Amino acid sequence: MPQIFAKKARLADGWAQNVLLDVKDGRIVGLRTGVAGGATGGETSVDCLLPALANLHSHTFQRAMAGMTEYRAAGRESFWTWRTLMYRFLDRLTPEQVQAIAALVFVEMQEAGYASVGEFHYVHHQLGGQRYDDLAELSARIAAAADQTGIGLTLLPVLYTYGGAGQQALAGGQLRFGNDPAQFLELVSAAQGAVAALPDDAQVGIAPHSLRATCPSDLAQVLAQTPQGPVHMHISEQPAEVEQISTWLGARPVEWLLQNADVNERWCLIHATHMTQAETIGLAKSKAVAGLCPITEANLGDGPFNGPAYLTAQGRFGVGSDSNVRISLTEELRTLEYSQRLRDVERNVMVLGEGSVGETLYLGAATGGAQAVGRDAGEIRIGALADLVAIDSQHVSLCALGDDKLLDGLCFAASDAVVTDVWSAGRHQVQNGRHVARDAVERAYRGAVAALVADL
Ligand code: ZN
Repeated sequence: MPQIFAKKARLADGWAQNVLLDVKDGRIVGLRTGVAGGATGGETSVDCLLPALANLHSHTFQRAMAGMTEYRAAGRESFWTWRTLMYRFLDRLTPEQVQAIAALVFVEMQEAGYASVGEFHYVHHQLGGQRYDDLAELSARIAAAADQTGIGLTLLPVLYTYGGAGQQALAGGQLRFGNDPAQFLELVSAAQGAVAALPDDAQVGIAPHSLRATCPSDLAQVLAQTPQGPVHMHISEQPAEVEQISTWLGARPVEWLLQNADVNERWCLIHATHMTQAETIGLAKSKAVAGLCPITEANLGDGPFNGPAYLTAQGRFGVGSDSNVRISLTEELRTLEYSQRLRDVERNVMVLGEGSVGETLYLGAATGGAQAVGRDAGEIRIGALADLVAIDSQHVSLCALGDDKLLDGLCFAASDAVVTDVWSAGRHQVQNGRHVARDAVERAYRGAVAALVADL
């Protein structure tokens, strides 16, 4: 049986020294602390073991656009270069490219310390909207990339039926996203078939894209026919969206959803950036997870999350890399806190009462992220999936810190270079800081993007 020995580990109830874990069928089945003499020889030995996070929100194909949209076109709205390029990508993207890009993204996520991902997958069809022979062709490509890289996949096929609030027709690049509820449910079932070939921890949820891309009756129908699994939805990302939904449905997006759907632990509301105090408290009380994507939200100029009120109301949260413009767990967490500090002109905001901000951010995102992607993970304990990350606490950026400051160091002083090992449900994918499949995956990615950008 595979064993992992750690000089120290952050367990559910605090730090422990000389920890030996037994792992079987992807789960932690044995856990001993204070193991005399340390390593016994047969196990993998690491310095400091933490529960690995789930990256709860990603659109993998957007990784290939990173660095291409940081240009302001005179006389255009600031979002224009980003959206224009995204649609140009959609005019070209092939199934092979979808897989090659996703595989690189999954390698980068694991090297950054994430063990699993919620892939919010919305490109389903051929150019112009025609179905592939296999309705779930592109979902199967995401599943294949997960298989290549060993990441724990929660695939979230996206319901995208309308081009804008009030049931506007799809147009242009959006045609590749489109399904009505009946075809969407067929797609989900086909995606489940594709994911069935992966290890047991992989699963399929659903993702109604946003209130503007569905309508109340379609949403109710799809929810009624999907009684289990994670439900993710983009919500309240930009003020214009809040205005459009308020005009159409007579309530702000989060307000409307809380009143009209049974929002509970299965749900993850992505962004939830622009909320009133009442919406913030309502979301917290629902026990759903707020899916925060601080780097992308900063990159797109969305605005900061209402952190203090949400934490005070015991709200649950996790983080995702969304556009994948930059995949870095440490930067994601510090950007979340820094967005709060810049707005409030204050320090140490994302912590309730008194305590370590790093612990609040890291451990909160670990349990919240696991809930959002439907994984029994987020803590190191017997029975949980072995979603684990090892860091080098003696790295020069951390070596002066005691255990009680280590997660503060990770969140504010370190880079992802401190990650030495990552296990996704026991699969040891990152070893000595490098993903075991990096070379082949990187080669395929370089070929795919060279072809993709050749005639942009
Ligand atoms: Zn998104």
